[in-house]
Amino acid sequence: MTTAYKVLIDGQMIDTPNMLDVVNPANEEVIGRVPSCGEDELNTAVAAARRAFKTWSKTPIDDRRKVVQAISGAIKDNADELFRLLTAEQGKPHAQAQQEIGGAAAMSAAQSTLTLEDEINEDSDTRLSRTRRVPVGVVGGIVPWNFPVMMAVQKIAPALISGCTIVLKPSPFTPLTTLRLAELIKDVVPAGVVNIITGEDSLGPLITSHPDIDKITFTGSTETGKKIMEGASKDLKRITLELGGNDASIVLPDADVEKVAEQLFWSSFTNAGQVCIAAKRIYIHEDIYDDLSAAIAEYARHVKVGDGAQQGTAVGPIQNKKQYERVLELIQDAKDNGHKFLVGGDTDPTGTGYYVPITILDNPPEDARIVAEEQFGPVMPLMKFATVDEAISRANASEYGLAGAVWTADTDKGVEVAEQMETGTVWVNEFMHLSPFAPFGGHKQSGFGAEYGKEGLLEFTYPQVITVKR
Ligand code: NAD
Repeated sequence: MTTAYKVLIDGQMIDTPNMLDVVNPANEEVIGRVPSCGEDELNTAVAAARRAFKTWSKTPIDDRRKVVQAISGAIKDNADELFRLLTAEQGKPHAQAQQEIGGAAAMSAAQSTLTLEDEINEDSDTRLSRTRRVPVGVVGGIVPWNFPVMMAVQKIAPALISGCTIVLKPSPFTPLTTLRLAELIKDVVPAGVVNIITGEDSLGPLITSHPDIDKITFTGSTETGKKIMEGASKDLKRITLELGGNDASIVLPDADVEKVAEQLFWSSFTNAGQVCIAAKRIYIHEDIYDDLSAAIAEYARHVKVGDGAQQGTAVGPIQNKKQYERVLELIQDAKDNGHKFLVGGDTDPTGTGYYVPITILDNPPEDARIVAEEQFGPVMPLMKFATVDEAISRANASEYGLAGAVWTADTDKGVEVAEQMETGTVWVNEFMHLSPFAPFGGHKQSGFGAEYGKEGLLEFTYPQVITVKR
């Protein structure tokens, strides 16, 4: 039997007459049904968030921290149930689903320790001027399908710490774990402070243009991000946009081939490549290109693609049919243009489930679609370079600027290269590490503003300067 889920509005779990099916990408079976909310449910949720804001914004920050810690505790206490449900709807293997659930608990607990102190601007004989931080109001949170729980908590925690209330919309592809979480936190969060509503993509623009929402915090594609900026411009809503990327890794000639092969593989193939900060273009120095590409290909041949709920699976299916077809189209385009494959290249997989075989390309040209576009799938183009300057300029020749990595035995050299990369985050000899205390945000068309750290928290506030004449 398919489970029917409810949405969280004003402290109550509510259902709606219209429902949406949610499919397990590993076998294409419907595993849940969720409310298809429209304008009525949105208006009720926003009104509840507005009422709750009056009290919540005046609640001492230490009490607000305790609520965020209770949310973190609820995730931790129910991690076993949550990670299994996450695999069923998202497709990622159990171990990676456990990491996402554990990460959501840990990141929110860590964010609850961030502070919002007043700052003194002038303390003179004539004047005392200080800046305090006031919450922006009701926040609309919109999240994608690749890390549904992590992204939901990434919006909820800073909103609550800063004194805002929130109406959150998960992706229609992956709403189940978030709605289960809604049920688990319903009694630990005051009514109306957190509202979670589900619906089709068309619910998104209703949120971004809602006159009683003060800020939008969005994670998703650059294309949707632009629409959100447009929608939010009507009443100058504050916005934070975490968007797409086409992250480059640069492997210098002194890198230890045996050591980096496995790490480079996972920098691209974690969550079947459906990570905004996955390495999507790998530039390898020509001196080690043959050895390193052979080592990565050899490692890849032993990685099992399959149902994330089955033991031994390391790479799961693509999360939804639309994305599955897009990734296959990019691989087909590479084949049609005669690009060489080291591993994979099958564009006609059989059976049920949205499985794309691990695909590694051998030195495709820069203008190949599979290099120039964000693949968001289990695809890794390896490219050869001769000089470091050339690698940096090829890495930077992108409209995106989310993250990047440098791999080298010489960390000083690594930092020198990192500082020339036009992205919001650059790792030297690691990948995908995010800290709750460091700002994460894209340059260029990868984003607007930042999440995490003090900077991320401040995005949920306005500065207010109080000046007293002495
Ligand atoms: P998407 O933009 O299609 O959808 C994201 C969310 O926006 C969903 O909840 C969707 O229902 C909603 N939405 C769709 N149309 C809307 C509209 N017109 N107005 C308002 N909301 C709308 O993205 P996706 O396919 O779910 O996710 C994949 C993308 O997300 C990739 O590009 C990836 O790089 C990006 N992403 C970025 C980050 C980051 O932190 N920078 C993290 C994860 C994913």
